[in-house]
Amino acid sequence: MTAAPGPITAHTPPRFSDPLPDAADVVVVGGGVAGVSTAWFLARAGVSVALCEKGRIAGEQSSRNWGWVRQLGRDADELPIMMEASRLWPELERDTGEDLGFRRSGVVYLHEDEAAAAADEPLLELARAHQLEVERLDRRGVEALVDGAPGRWHGALRCPSDGRAEPWQAVPGIARALQRAGASVTEGCAVRSLELQAGRVAGVVTERGPIRCERVLLAGGAWSSLFLGNAGIRLPQLTVRATAARTAPGPEVFAGCAADSGLAFRRRQDGGYSLALCDRHDHFLGPDSLRFARLFRQCLRDSWSSTHLRPAAPRGFPDAWTTPRRWAADDTSPFERLRVLEPAPSPGVAATIRRRLAERLPALAGLALTDVWAGMIDATPDVVPVLDAVPGREGLFVATGFSGHGFGIGPGAGRVMADLMRGRPTGHDLTRFRFARFSDGSPIRPGPAL
Ligand SMILES: Cc1cc2nc3c(=O)[nH]c(=O)nc-3n(C[C@H](O)[C@H](O)[C@H](O)COP(=O)(O)OP(=O)(O)OC[C@H]3O[C@@H](n4cnc5c(N)ncnc54)[C@H](O)[C@@H]3O)c2cc1C
Repeated sequence: MTAAPGPITAHTPPRFSDPLPDAADVVVVGGGVAGVSTAWFLARAGVSVALCEKGRIAGEQSSRNWGWVRQLGRDADELPIMMEASRLWPELERDTGEDLGFRRSGVVYLHEDEAAAAADEPLLELARAHQLEVERLDRRGVEALVDGAPGRWHGALRCPSDGRAEPWQAVPGIARALQRAGASVTEGCAVRSLELQAGRVAGVVTERGPIRCERVLLAGGAWSSLFLGNAGIRLPQLTVRATAARTAPGPEVFAGCAADSGLAFRRRQDGGYSLALCDRHDHFLGPDSLRFARLFRQCLRDSWSSTHLRPAAPRGFPDAWTTPRRWAADDTSPFERLRVLEPAPSPGVAATIRRRLAERLPALAGLALTDVWAGMIDATPDVVPVLDAVPGREGLFVATGFSGHGFGIGPGAGRVMADLMRGRPTGHDLTRFRFARFSDGSPIRPGPAL
């Protein structure tokens, strides 16, 4: 399969239009990497699954990301799940029979100076504790690996078993295989609300009618907090806008994913590069920014220099000032009013990317940027996801809040959630990812970064 022309948008023709079943064992809300991967592992275990996506499969973060599949630099509790995900990517490619674009081409954190190298020392120690191969490269080691500006980097950390996958083909590919495994996958179908009976899930109401079920997975990305709020459930979650760009095909300067403090670059399967600034994202202030301010205090402090505050989100965004917070099952929901969350890129970022690219990778300096786009990253106060059953709502499960690093771990999170929903051991300690951690008085312990 050749690469699709770029991130999936509201203008991408619908590709998944299965009729809605009256009933299913599980309804999955959201067709990003978390929802599609969980549905895949459930369907393979013989569970009947209906997956509803309000817009397009992978139309939001899951086709807008950089495509890094990274174990390096992970939160200590996420790392075991991520190491499993790293093993699962090639298996998924084999079992789905789809080209997900996975290549084990390595991730490299480039250091401009001694201080940057020292700051990454804990990553090396964590990797050692998990028998994950991570090596230090000196200046000459970097020059042998990356065709960059001479003398630019002092050294690097490299994880050779890390990889990359192609965002705009991977999740749609898994979704096609999911259909072949017997699940229904329906785009343009917002789930408006949950049906609860005596505190238990009894079904969902979609814009196209109800589906009876005993278990629901909410994997709604940036919309999860809004969805739960309508059911009277509080999940602290905020969003930030991240901008990315891609080039036309060019010479290979490095086959994998690499970043220093200013620029991230990844070779794509089509020979171009996906690029982004590492030190720039935007937060649009809204009612949730105020409601959850206390919980996000530390997160904001840690990322203050790279976070640009904007007074208001565009109309219809999950935390826009005018977005309704409550609606009835027969009302048009906010999910139908904005099918695909596709923010405009941050002003000025493309020009900065072009400049930094020329400074770091002169061999690519003349390449045209063929596309610039943005996505809304959903973040939790401790920048690690929620992977749990919702206390007090039997049958409701949540996989959300991947905080800017959910694409690579997606298959691992999906396998874990599928087993959790089937009442089977997950093989991982999920304490860190429990739903109640923001309301039970636990201290906020932020993971490495967005
Ligand atoms: C610019 C950028 C770069 C990134 N780079 C990387 C990277 O290199 N590596 C990495 O691991 N991660 C990266 N990430 C993060 C990664 O993309 C996300 O963490 C991951 O895709 C989240 O997947 P998800 O399934 O939770 O959410 P999403 O992909 O956002 O999917 C959620 C879906 O739910 C749907 N939905 C919501 N509510 C409803 C409803 N009520 N009814 C029906 N459907 C609904 C939405 O329409 C959406 O399609 C990046 C993100 C961005 C924006």
